[in-house]
Formats: sequence, C-alpha cells, structure tokens
Amino acid sequence: MTTTVTTVTTTNKTTATNMTITMTPRALIDITPAITPDIAVWPGDTPVSREVLCTIEGGATITLSTLRATVHLGAHADGANHYGAGAASIDAMPLARYLGPCHVIDAPVARREGGSRVGVGDIRLDIAAIRHPRVLLRTGTFPDFTRWNSDFAGLEPALVDALADRGVTLIGIDTPSVDVQESKDLAAHKRFLARDVSILEGLRLAHVAPGEYELIALPLPLVGFDASPVRAVLRSLA
Ligand SMILES: [Zn+2]
Repeated sequence: MTTTVTTVTTTNKTTATNMTITMTPRALIDITPAITPDIAVWPGDTPVSREVLCTIEGGATITLSTLRATVHLGAHADGANHYGAGAASIDAMPLARYLGPCHVIDAPVARREGGSRVGVGDIRLDIAAIRHPRVLLRTGTFPDFTRWNSDFAGLEPALVDALADRGVTLIGIDTPSVDVQESKDLAAHKRFLARDVSILEGLRLAHVAPGEYELIALPLPLVGFDASPVRAVLRSLA
C-alpha cells in the first residue's frame, strides 16, 4: 500500500494556511451491482428507466434526466415497514447500522427449486467468533444481476435469531431477499422485525474474500418509503 502526501494551500481574506494531508488510501471494494435498464427486479416490480429531459449534445445547457424504478433496486436497504405494518420507514431506520465493521461470511448452499434457506450450520464462521454487529452472507445463489433466477437462497429464521442473540443488528445477503421467492409467510423477515435487525439485500459479493471489513451502505432519507437503494462498499479495517 502506498502513502500519498498532498500539500493543500487554502487562502481566504484573513488567513493563509498550509495544511499537509497524509493519506494512506484504503482500497474500496464495490459490492453494488451496476444499475442499468438490464438489472433484474422482483417479478412484477418496477424496472429501471431513465427519461432524458434534455442533453448538452442536443443543444441544451445541461443534461437532465429522471429515474423511475422500484426502491428495492440492486443493493438496497429495506425499511421495516416493508414487512411490518406501522414499522419504521427507511428514513427512520438507525443510520449507524449501515456503516462500520462487518464480517463477510461464506454460506454456501445449493441452488434448488423453491430455494434453500441458510441455517446456522451452513455459515462458515462460528457464531461465537462474530465480534462485529454487521454480517454479510455470501451464498452464491444469485450469480447474475441481469438474469433473474427464482431458486436463490433465503435465511432460516433460526439463523436470524442466533445472530441477533450474538448482538448482530444488520444482516446483508447476496440475493434479492432474506426469504425464498415463493415464501408466503416471510418467516425470515418476521424474525428481523421481531428482533429489530436491519436488512441489506442484493449485494454483489462473488469477488469478495470472506473476512472482516468496514461496510459503508447508507440508505437515502426517503421519507415514508419501504426501502432505499444503497451504494455498498467495503474497505479494509484501519
Ligand atoms: Zn427489499
């Protein structure tokens, strides 16, 4: 890792200061799937579209466009009101949960019709070894964000309980949902609600080695909404 030293001079009416910034860059690992018109959304949900109002190339002063899409788009944080009547909307979720040390843990389960559920025995880290309040699970069951596959994995409610018992307050997954696609009772979501644990879904983790990182995945303050897209990144712990 290299160290960059930059000298910045700032001047205003009354003072002139020389400030030296010493920076050891920590590489960012982007775990956000690209948002393109091709990104797959839940069957029946609203896909991405961009309406271009004007462009510089077309003679306008600026380029300006409008985004239309589900808020459960690619990497996103769920508001508790998505799965609980009267529960917190995304703007009211505790922001600190989405930023800080995390574990990326392998959870290899089979892709099978109806979807597997990741249980306590499937995760490749002893729950007693978890020492950060954020856990991202790498199932590998949703490999291509531009091609929806319905056999992605969800979580067993007992795993949510075991992680909550350990003090985990945020669980992320590399699939579109913490429940399997055909789930009618949303058993995992219900445990998140009961245990007050927050959800990140749609993370791109195939290129990430299991280990400990800093997670940055802040939702937008979309008042009253049931989710927000996030730009999720990891970097090595300082
Ligand atoms: Zn969601």
